[in-house]
Amino acid sequence: MGEFELIRHYFASAACARSGEGIVLGIGDDCALLDVAVGQQLSVSTDTLVEGVHFPHQADPYLLGQRALAVSVSDLAAMGAQPVAFTLALTLPSADANWLQGFARGLDQMAESCAIRLIGGDTTRGPLSMTLTVFGQVPQGQALTRSGAQVGDLLCVGGELGDAAGALPLVLEPTTPLSAAAEVLLARYWSPRPQLELGQALRGKASAALDISDGLLADCGHIAKASAVALLIEQARLPLSEALRAVAGGPQALRCALSGGDDYRLAFTLPEQHLSALEQAGLPIWVIGRVEAGEGVTLLDEQGRSLPLPEHGYQHFGNPRD
Ligand code: ADP
Ligand code: MG
Repeated sequence: MGEFELIRHYFASAACARSGEGIVLGIGDDCALLDVAVGQQLSVSTDTLVEGVHFPHQADPYLLGQRALAVSVSDLAAMGAQPVAFTLALTLPSADANWLQGFARGLDQMAESCAIRLIGGDTTRGPLSMTLTVFGQVPQGQALTRSGAQVGDLLCVGGELGDAAGALPLVLEPTTPLSAAAEVLLARYWSPRPQLELGQALRGKASAALDISDGLLADCGHIAKASAVALLIEQARLPLSEALRAVAGGPQALRCALSGGDDYRLAFTLPEQHLSALEQAGLPIWVIGRVEAGEGVTLLDEQGRSLPLPEHGYQHFGNPRD
């Protein structure tokens, strides 16, 4: 199968490549064309995943397709943007029909659930890797950045932390049979759900936001630095899932929540006056700490004393990344 046939068969004819709002021209020309509505800004993010670095060799292509798109769309969620379109630059060692079919199906499934359309890409031969660029729209001046956290704001997260890190040993060395809890963690790793609804609801309310991809401590460090403030995290408030506690046990579950990456939950700072309305709207919000004057991230015990931070870039599971 030649390059053009491959593109046509697996990607141009995928359900997620049909036309959609704001898409003037999709796959097939030298460029795609997007309309940006008056009063909206285009938000753009790109991510590369490399076999053996960001995902294991022999990974299930369906799960990979889902995950590759989810991690990119999560950046749109973190900005409060609404997804519009994405491109896919795919490098493949060979045109393996089973692999391509599975990958395209996973991609399609995640694209449907995020309401985002495939508008172009590139297909080349080489070691397996994929670069996805996502485009979203956000009302002028309302994007959630990392730099607006204010002293006195609450520090919040959008869900349970550490599940994906808890799944890593199973991702790297699959075993069977799996417990129900292990299945839950693996699903969190392979098909994270970008928190699009939460991100858009936080527009005009949250003072800073990002998606947790490198681990809570590291990512909170990004907000603290960009906003020139200190973030205090109360360890006892960290939301840990039943599944993580069951698979990893207490202390390790905590380490996964603090230092494990890949959760793709939002972390954000919020003036307290907005909390109850957002909670009443049914949005997933856990208050885990607060913003103070100073710098860096501090972890507190229940008496408010500062705890030693786990090693930065904790690599218990041997997953060094960018
Ligand atoms: P060009 O030579 O003009 O760069 P290509 O031959 O690379 O164009 O691609 C032809 C068309 O197919 C373009 O519209 C491109 O965006 C699209 N395309 C190529 N690879 C992919 C892919 N993996 N997924 C989606 N669209 C793709
Ligand atoms: Mg090209």
